[in-house]
Amino acid sequence: MFKSIRWKFITIYFTLVFIAMAIVGVFIIQKFEAYHLNVSSERLNMVAKDYILPGIQKIPPGVSLEDGREEFQKVIDRWSTGFFREEIFIIKKDFEIIATNNPGFNGENAIDELEDVLIVEGFKGQIVEKDKISRDPTQDATKNLVFPIIRNEKVEGVLYLRDNLTDIYETLNKSKRILTQATFLALAITVLLGYLIAKSVTEPINDVTKKAAHMAKGDFDQRVEIKSDDEIGKLAEMFNYLTEKLKTTLGEISSEKSKMETILNYMADGLIAVNMDGKIIHANPKAMEMLKINQEVFTEGDYDGIFEKLNEKLSLKYIKTYNESWIGSEVININESIYKASYAPYKNERNERGGLVLVIQDVTEQQRLENMRREFVANVSHELKTPITSIKSYTETLLSGALEDKNISERFLKVIHDESNRMARLVRDLLQLSNFDYRQTELSKERKDLAKLIKQSVMKLEMAAKNKNQRLEFVTEEEEMFGYFDHDRIEQVLLNIISNAIKYTEEDGEVKVHLEKEDGNAVLSVKDTGIGIPKEDLPRIFERFYRVDKARSRELGGTGLGLSIAKEIIEAHSGTIEIFSEVGEGTDVIIKLPLEENVV
Ligand code: ADP
Repeated sequence: MFKSIRWKFITIYFTLVFIAMAIVGVFIIQKFEAYHLNVSSERLNMVAKDYILPGIQKIPPGVSLEDGREEFQKVIDRWSTGFFREEIFIIKKDFEIIATNNPGFNGENAIDELEDVLIVEGFKGQIVEKDKISRDPTQDATKNLVFPIIRNEKVEGVLYLRDNLTDIYETLNKSKRILTQATFLALAITVLLGYLIAKSVTEPINDVTKKAAHMAKGDFDQRVEIKSDDEIGKLAEMFNYLTEKLKTTLGEISSEKSKMETILNYMADGLIAVNMDGKIIHANPKAMEMLKINQEVFTEGDYDGIFEKLNEKLSLKYIKTYNESWIGSEVININESIYKASYAPYKNERNERGGLVLVIQDVTEQQRLENMRREFVANVSHELKTPITSIKSYTETLLSGALEDKNISERFLKVIHDESNRMARLVRDLLQLSNFDYRQTELSKERKDLAKLIKQSVMKLEMAAKNKNQRLEFVTEEEEMFGYFDHDRIEQVLLNIISNAIKYTEEDGEVKVHLEKEDGNAVLSVKDTGIGIPKEDLPRIFERFYRVDKARSRELGGTGLGLSIAKEIIEAHSGTIEIFSEVGEGTDVIIKLPLEENVV
């Protein structure tokens, strides 16, 4: 409580007024005392010098002090007839008081009654003065003045004058009391005024302090009342301005923060921030999902504990030791997924390195496409290499003399012819796929009878089936089934699927083509009793160049592109193609094709 400005104000005012009053009081009392003592001294001198001593001198020098007692008494009485205050004594050499205006002292020994030192000094011819102020209140304060009485050039006696100072000291004491009372009154007024002045200063300050405390708790709707135009008013004005500024700034920061949080929460990449001590300070939901860390592990925040297991080069320990720039990227493999983690340092508020920010991207698809691209190039080169090698070796043999032998040349030229056909087929298939990839394939759809087209395709392949002693049949309850489709392309698909069924079915087997209508779609099934496709190969069967048994397929003249082209064509017609198969039991290829144009 006493620490408050209010109390400091009051204490300072109180002390100042007290000191001022004390100084003034002491000064006045001293001056007052000195003045009265002086007045008393002047009066005694005047009495002695102007009346008594000249009176004494008038007495003839022949009359001794002893003899002239009465004469001297007369001098004193003459003076003392009116109002008088001072006591007058004439003392002769043996200290006897021979004349006085205080009858009680007449004939008494002066040494017993008066100041002996002064009397002695007087007999030495000195004029001496002394104030006798006793601490004892029963003894009166007096002013004593002694003059030597010089007659016949000798000190015959002394004139002793005494003035009672009690009145003066009483007045002085009264004055002191009045001054003390005045001081108390002044101090009381000071305390009151000090309190009021301090209040006018501290109240606005207290108001500001209280409102600042509310602000610290997050309530920025605080305004203080501006009551004056002085420094305190300015402080209140500044406080209101500061509140307003803080409110808008915090609003902006919070909106920025919420924006950032939304971005971080919904971004497709994972983001982790870690401080210099290796503690994770932020991880967005995507990062947790990618790294399969739950909130608990994140709350523990041991960055190195997580990353040392995934890729040691991403651990803070490793980066601190081996990567001066703290910038880099690494690959992380988690289960089937591949992630690229790029990192860079961030700065703290002192513009020093504050930690690391790690952005994790899912590059699984990218990697898969890259692998597919590499595989595709390798496949194409491989597929072309085989026929080119055989064409090259046969032509070389022919050139080196085999041409002479008609039989051999014919056989060799047939091989060369077959191989170049094979290459042509491959290039044709590749071109067709590339056109699909670059969306350059224009389908020329027309309203045609699908049942008729299937029948014709089956007929085209009847010979091939017959050669393998297989039963190839087309079963349908529909006499005709009109729909919008690209006749040639669908025929290409049909020939590929049915010929595959024939190719991959042993002799004496059976291939059954079935067509029906279901919800406006044509549903075509090509079912064989062939070798079937192993389960693990089924998911990849539509990939380019994918073949279950490469040697067998090549032997049978396949390029491994047939099914992928079929899939592209069917999907371009908004249809679907699926393969169901059991090894040793057979394969069933099911194609669903929308018949109506508007569906396409
Ligand atoms: P290919 O030119 O080799 O026949 P496809 O793309 O037409 O190429 O077929 C890919 C692979 O799918 C074939 O190599 C074969 O292993 C398998 N396959 C396709 N159809 C059948 C089927 N009816 N029975 C068994 N395997 C088949």
